[in-house]
Amino acid sequence: MNNRRNFLLSTITFLPILGSVLQSQPTGKKSKEKAYVISTWDSGKEVNEAAFRLLDRGAKAIDAAEEAGIYIENQINCCVGLGGNPDREGKVTLDACIMDHKFQCGSVSFLERIKHPVSVARKVMEKTPHVMLVGKGAQKFALEEGFTLEEEKLSSDAEESYKNWLIESKYKPVINIENQVPDKLPSGKFNHDTMGTLCLDHEGDLAGMCTTSGMAFKMHGRVGDSPIIGSGLYVDGKTGAATGSGQGEEVIRVCGTFMIVEYLKQGRSPEQACRLVIKRIIDINPDKAKSFQVGFIAMTKKGEFGAYSIHPGFSYAVTLQNGTTEVRESDSFFKTS
Ligand code: ASP
Repeated sequence: MNNRRNFLLSTITFLPILGSVLQSQPTGKKSKEKAYVISTWDSGKEVNEAAFRLLDRGAKAIDAAEEAGIYIENQINCCVGLGGNPDREGKVTLDACIMDHKFQCGSVSFLERIKHPVSVARKVMEKTPHVMLVGKGAQKFALEEGFTLEEEKLSSDAEESYKNWLIESKYKPVINIENQVPDKLPSGKFNHDTMGTLCLDHEGDLAGMCTTSGMAFKMHGRVGDSPIIGSGLYVDGKTGAATGSGQGEEVIRVCGTFMIVEYLKQGRSPEQACRLVIKRIIDINPDKAKSFQVGFIAMTKKGEFGAYSIHPGFSYAVTLQNGTTEVRESDSFFKTS
């Protein structure tokens, strides 16, 4: 508790000095609430708590962000880590990235049989002159760095979903809308749930990560937005950060999280910045946008946060600066789906 109080106090005294770029917000809803951690989806609650446990002990945002990824990659989750759904050839291929407040970033994609892609992404960031490694090259690098080659085996949940999918083998690379029950997989599960997490530490530094097994039953080799810096995750240490989940192709088209941070720089609130990028996605093809989901979350260097999605049903977890963690649903462009 003492540690938490120290952390809360040190941040409260430190933060006003920082982030002067956001002192005036000409537009957008202002919220008095401030956060330390924000993650996509309901499953973000435990992820936030894992990250906050570190922040509370004085850890750096980048360590808390990696911890968030490790936590969810250890769970059997439909859409993250080796327990996630496979591609249409039955292979689980993982994408992840991580970024700190100094524009340092690392990413892996199309990575097989490695349990913690978020940690491999961090090694790419810290130990190579590159940002992104893919496929066999990423796997070779991971093994050289001491990661273990895991058995090639689907989790029982993923195996059930895959067997059900094989019955019709219908290629439908569209991200579910949560409230549309008929769009769920035959096993009753969704086909996506990427975990994106943003953390703010006691020094006022931001970092984030994004990790996923990607869209269920995708083409072998397909890569979505999640490992792409500026699409699935972006952090600008002087301003703010954003991440998200949903139809990766549509997020890539608008450099989604990079654009959100650009809007933050212009003084938009996090929710409004997310909304403006969601609107861009919808404007490209309003009819098509009726059938897929994208949701974003964003946080400023001062801890202001917000979220927005195309359709209802996008939830996120927020750890407020009073130390409590809540799951909330974002506002959405379409009010019913
Ligand atoms: N964004 C991910 C992808 O396109 C899917 C998700 O959000 O779960 O692979």
